[in-house]
Amino acid sequence: MNPRTLPQRPLVGRLAPSPTGVLHLGNVRSFLLAWLSVRSRGGKMVLRIEDIDGPRVRTEMIDRTIEDLRWLGFDWDGDPVIQSMRRALHDAAADRLLDAGRAYPCVCSRSEIEEAASAPHEPVDAPPDGPIYPGTCRGLYASLEEARSRSGRDPALRFHVTRTSEPFDDLFLGEQRGAVRGDFVIRKRDGSPAYQLAVVVDDADQGVTEVLRADDLLTSTPRQLLLYRELGLSAPRFAHVPLVVGSDGRRLAKRHGDTSIDHFRGRGVSPEQIISHVARLAGLAPAGASARPEDLLDNFDLAATPRAPVVGEDPDFES
Ligand code: GLU
Repeated sequence: MNPRTLPQRPLVGRLAPSPTGVLHLGNVRSFLLAWLSVRSRGGKMVLRIEDIDGPRVRTEMIDRTIEDLRWLGFDWDGDPVIQSMRRALHDAAADRLLDAGRAYPCVCSRSEIEEAASAPHEPVDAPPDGPIYPGTCRGLYASLEEARSRSGRDPALRFHVTRTSEPFDDLFLGEQRGAVRGDFVIRKRDGSPAYQLAVVVDDADQGVTEVLRADDLLTSTPRQLLLYRELGLSAPRFAHVPLVVGSDGRRLAKRHGDTSIDHFRGRGVSPEQIISHVARLAGLAPAGASARPEDLLDNFDLAATPRAPVVGEDPDFES
């Protein structure tokens, strides 16, 4: 067990949707598992809307996301937390890391990094998290001001990674080596917090002790654990479940047809039918064709979830 996780902390899970598009079946499956895992053990659940991704997020999307979750039958404790309103906390954490010499200003553009990092033998497919940062700006600037005046650019802040791995015991996948790939951005060039930092600061601040999410974020976890360590915060336990994919094996997306909750809702599909379908995708085998999340609480077993990616395209809802 991770020594920074205090076992006696009360169990708190979270739903952390990004309101950048409408919820789809893949999101709902992760939320269902996260909700069941915590509620089946009497834990608290919080809701955080992760709307920090700049101008792409519209207010009506936030309301719609919350409404969709309620309609599906999820509940949570307390008011929803809106991530963009917590900027001061994120900034304070970023500044602390800068002041402690654990982060540095970086003025590299995306294309400069790609160019510097690419080697002729690299496979055509880009690595999932983008190129590994080659460390170009590390040690170059004593301060943000110096970086700005010498480069004529607004600097990002990058965390200086000094450990190559941050192993952890995943509640679903078991022991993970936790490789860390290169220095990563904690504050973007426009001054907004990067996901890796915001998620750590907010999960810690909300007292979250269990993070269950899809395994597309598995490679982010070691970076987040590094930030917990550096900021002296207690880390949650993590569980990463397989992604829901289309029939071509790729992450469920628009090209697989409309799997948005709005789409099914507009066609008269009930929330119970959607939850039942998603429960089957999660290997939970509900008794009937319709179920509320709370109907699945008894005998919930995360270990029963299939380990392979799950195909979630074209559900056949009886009308
Ligand atoms: N907001 C992220 C998403 O919807 C989830 C972040 C997380 O679970 O850590 O992809």
